[in-house]
This record gives sequence, structure tokens and C-alpha cells, in this order.
Amino acid sequence: MADTKLYEVLGVSRNASDGEIKKAYYRLAKEYHPDKNPEAGERFKEISFAYEILSNSEKREIYDRHGLQGIKEGASSGFGAGMFDDIFGNFFGFPGMGGMSGMGGGGRRGRRRGENTMHPLRVTLEDLYNGKTAKLQLSKTVICKKCNGIGGKAGSTIKCRVCQGRGIKVTLRQLGPGMVQQMQSVCPDCHGEGEIINDRDRCKECKGKKVSNETKILEVHVDKGMKDGQKITFRGEGDQLPDVEPGDVVIVLQLKEHEQFSREGSNLWFRQKIGLTEALCGFSFTLKHLDGRDLVISNPPGEIIKPELIKTVQGEGMPTYRNPFDKGDLFIKFEVVFPQNNFIAPEKLKKLENLLPARPKYEKPTGEHVEEVDMVPYDQTRSAGSSRGREAYHDDDDEDDEMHGGGPRVQCAHQ
Ligand SMILES: [Zn+2]
Ligand SMILES: [Zn+2]
Repeated sequence: MADTKLYEVLGVSRNASDGEIKKAYYRLAKEYHPDKNPEAGERFKEISFAYEILSNSEKREIYDRHGLQGIKEGASSGFGAGMFDDIFGNFFGFPGMGGMSGMGGGGRRGRRRGENTMHPLRVTLEDLYNGKTAKLQLSKTVICKKCNGIGGKAGSTIKCRVCQGRGIKVTLRQLGPGMVQQMQSVCPDCHGEGEIINDRDRCKECKGKKVSNETKILEVHVDKGMKDGQKITFRGEGDQLPDVEPGDVVIVLQLKEHEQFSREGSNLWFRQKIGLTEALCGFSFTLKHLDGRDLVISNPPGEIIKPELIKTVQGEGMPTYRNPFDKGDLFIKFEVVFPQNNFIAPEKLKKLENLLPARPKYEKPTGEHVEEVDMVPYDQTRSAGSSRGREAYHDDDDEDDEMHGGGPRVQCAHQ
């Protein structure tokens, strides 16, 4: 699992830009500066430490790859071990310089984590074959930039007088003489938060709501070889709320069915119709591939293609995810279409018969029990009629049950 503690300290996402990190640091440093906020000394050290690592591209890379452990190892050889030892020990719950066992235990109070939001993204098989970048417009809640999520000027929040800071309003309702019902509800003045901001101090940007709405465009990179249902995660891009660590935005790929190709893992299936002549005498046809190439597929004359025969074109299947030059196979299944006319002229028949394999010998039986019958075209309504006959039989049975009125069954056979 990736270590994101330092990002959490600054309240930024893992893919935050240098500018965003700097901004977050200045905001927090101002808020928690010991001159202004003497009780937040430890918090201030954490913030400074996090900024020191994340503002340095080299250190940030080490941290992203190896977590705090990597920074610590670097520290002992490089950037001044003493101070880091102190920070690790005190604020990240490390037992001095030994191991990771203390991680997450003491130090930081946990921030509630917001929920992940899922967004489906419809993709075609072409998209998964070639890869593509989709732009997704997202409307999200962000911490108000003007007041940094405080809702007003720093220090302008005061305890709600209506609920005395409890966030709950208690009302008494007279039900009758000497009977009172006590009802609790969320305080309408502070909306259950227990504190309010004076009108004059209230942030003009968010009107004290602490958050605002923002439209954000996410660039979703659909890589070659990705699958239906695969998830692409944008860490910390979920809604921002005060005192909540934003959840992730998760994009879920949804594959639209292709008209000609179907996918099976890294392989592709393609169904091709050919005529009887092609099946027997060889053919060529052009297959338009998912990247627009025209594949010329030929079958040499003399090699017969039987109905439902499968042939393989090696290396023309789907690219492998993260290794797109490695491709699966393309399977072509042949459907042999017989001539559309139902009759063949007698003079052609003779020639055809000579060309085709000899028919098996047939000896017609003789005797009294031999009967010659006629074949006519199949009629569906006649076959449906026979099944209705069976239903009618069932109806008779039901009627029989009703006659007995649901009482004890009478054994008719013995009457
Ligand atoms: Zn505001
Ligand atoms: Zn209140």
C-alpha cells in the first residue's frame, strides 16, 4: 500500500502539482504558526516536514516509491539525520529508527475519509485496441478557496447560541394537561454544526458554506489492452468537505459490443460468411481491423472450408495491457452460405454430380410394409398446434380437480 501520510498532512492529493503543494503549505503554515496558534506546535512541525519532502522533487520521488522508510534511509546518509530522527519519532509514531511498526498508530489523528465516486466510461473495442484519452467533465464540491473552508475570517466562528454549541435543538410540546413531549431536532441555526459565523465575518465567496462547486475536467487515459470493467482511479479527486479526506474518483470502463469482433481475453473472434463456391474453390477477402488496417485473408484453392471451421491469424488479437506489442491471436470462424435458389437446372445437375464426390449406394427395400411418402415444406403453425393439444389435456385435468372441490380426493377407480 502506498504511503500518503505527507500528502494528508498538507491536505493535497498524491498527484498534486508543485504549485498546489506550495499553496497548501502556505495556507496551513499561516493557520498553525506557533505565534498565532501556540498549541499547534507539533502540527506546525509536521506541516513543515511534509512540505520539505514534497517540495523537493528528488525527495518526493523517493517518498512516492519507498514511503517514509525510503526518506529515513536517505536521511541517515544524506539530509541531516538528527532532525529527521526527531520528527519520525515524535510525529509519525516511529519507535526511533527501528522498523515501520509504529506507522499510523499514535501520531496523527485520523481524518474521516470521503466516499469514492464511480463513473462509467463507455468505450468501444477500437478504443481498447488503440488506446485513447477521454476527457471527463466532473462537477465536484471543493473547499472554498477564499476562506480555506472556515466559512469566514479566521477566528470568526462562535458557538451557536440557539443550541449552546450542541447542534441539537430541544423543543417541548404540550400534549395535554401535565403531559409534555420532548423532541430533539437538528439545530436550524447552525445546521447541527454547533457553531456559526457572524454575518459580517461570513465569507462572501461561499456565504459561510465552506465549500463551493467546481467543474473539473479529468483526462482519462484508456491504455491499449484494457478490459471491460477495468477501473482507473484518480486519487483524492472526490468531493472536498471540511475535515474529510477526499475519496477517489473511479472510472469504470464499459465496453460497447462490437458488431463484428468479439473479445476473449487477449484473443479476438471474427465471423466470416463465405459462399459454397468459396468454401470449395478458395477465396480472398479483406478484413478491416480495429486499427483501420486492411488484412487480406486468403485460402488457397483446393483446401475446403467446412461450416463452422476456425482458422487462426497469429498475433492479430488484442494488445496485452502494459505490454501492447505482445498481442493475442485472431480466430476466424467460417459460416458457409448455400446458394439462395432452391432448384438447380437438370442439365447443370448432371455436371455437378460428376464433379462432386460419389453418392453412397442406396437399395430400396421391398415388401408389404414398405411405403413411399411425400415431403412438403415445414409448417411451423402445424407443430405449434400439436403442443396446444397437450395443454388442452392439462385443462381437462384442472377441471377434474375443481369438481372434487378441493376436499379429500375420491378414488374414482374403485367406484
Ligand atoms: Zn468561503
Ligand atoms: Zn445551533
